[in-house]
Amino acid sequence: MTPKVLLDPAIQIGADLAKWLEIGGGQGLRAAISDPAGAIPTVAEAGLRGMGGAGFPTARKWEMLAAQEGADKVIVCNGNEDEPGTFKDRHLLEHTPHAVVEGGLIAAVATGANQIYFYINPHHTKGLAAMRRAVEQWLVHDLLQSAQAAIGKSIRLSVVESSGLYIGGEETAVISTIEGGFPFPRKKPPFPAQSGVFGAPTVINNVETLANLPHILRRGAAWYRGLGLGEAVGTKLYSLSGDVLRPGLYELPMGTSLHDLVFVHGGGMLSGKEFKAVFTGGPSNTLLTKKDLDVALDFDSVRARNSRLGTGAMIVISEGTSIVRKIVEYMEFFANGSCGQCPPCKSGTYQMSRILGRIDAGDGAEGDLAALENLCRILPGCGRCALIDGAVTVVESSLSTFRGEYISQLRSRD
Ligand code: SF4
Repeated sequence: MTPKVLLDPAIQIGADLAKWLEIGGGQGLRAAISDPAGAIPTVAEAGLRGMGGAGFPTARKWEMLAAQEGADKVIVCNGNEDEPGTFKDRHLLEHTPHAVVEGGLIAAVATGANQIYFYINPHHTKGLAAMRRAVEQWLVHDLLQSAQAAIGKSIRLSVVESSGLYIGGEETAVISTIEGGFPFPRKKPPFPAQSGVFGAPTVINNVETLANLPHILRRGAAWYRGLGLGEAVGTKLYSLSGDVLRPGLYELPMGTSLHDLVFVHGGGMLSGKEFKAVFTGGPSNTLLTKKDLDVALDFDSVRARNSRLGTGAMIVISEGTSIVRKIVEYMEFFANGSCGQCPPCKSGTYQMSRILGRIDAGDGAEGDLAALENLCRILPGCGRCALIDGAVTVVESSLSTFRGEYISQLRSRD
């Protein structure tokens, strides 16, 4: 039985700082304060990676920020979480907000950042309220002063509401929003670590990433590494949904197999249903199917199957569920989520949504599959952000794995 870290029942205490400190909270920050230069090496040794989707090593991001000159440096905690099937960050914000705030302060001490923005989706009303209460308490606590003394700067903490739009979670869109604008993604370079919020070097970390830090700094890198399976390190929050008996949020060793997540922890498929596929990491990755049930759910192993772990969301579908229908739903989501800056993305997602919709409705035309394949060929790389690439990936994956379903649906009009 893996010890729970983020979902340990003992730390699901909400926004009471005194209680958080009573149960060992604050010790990770104290460790960082006593040796600011040692914090990045500890996080590097722990092998912590970004839990928002990309899986980029956290310490490498921090090194880039720490190396920047200048008085102002920014940490943003990205709590926009809006993709279908992902519901981990809202839980942490509501139930363990002090772990998140402490994680932000550890990041600030490690990198010399003097501003921390907690960027929260306004639809997560309980999480937003808990974070506001949590930050108010840290602002008048001695530990904040100690953190400031450690880096020789005063540290500003703010809670900022995101737009609540899917695209608002993209890291340059996060910056646009904090600056008061519409969440338009920006061209890179410059990268946020060079020029981010109001031109200051900026690192954007996911909520789950930050929530791990107090535990890692308090208990050490070796402890964290030992929680994972095989080569994987730490634990992972998996958002399990779809046609399983026990959908929900699971904290399991990083590297737990897809089979165990679905059939052991998730209780297996709903009565009378057969496993068919999983949309992994949200709806923008290559589908995993029965042959992938043995895959270890960690960043590298899922990538080796040409898919991505992403946020850890696993949307399970059963035999009898129409893949075409699911893809129509996700394409509508992408078409509605496109910010419209890049014409190929706006028109491409609209066109794919239209074609898929008519195939699903039984009104598909001869040549629709070729038209979809053509769009999948020309659209990747045409956008400023990854939305269009994600939309193409899921369509392409469904076309190659479940082509027979598309053909049956086209024939259904005859
Ligand atoms: Fe906006 Fe799409 Fe361009 Fe991303 S790819 S910036 S969502 S139009």
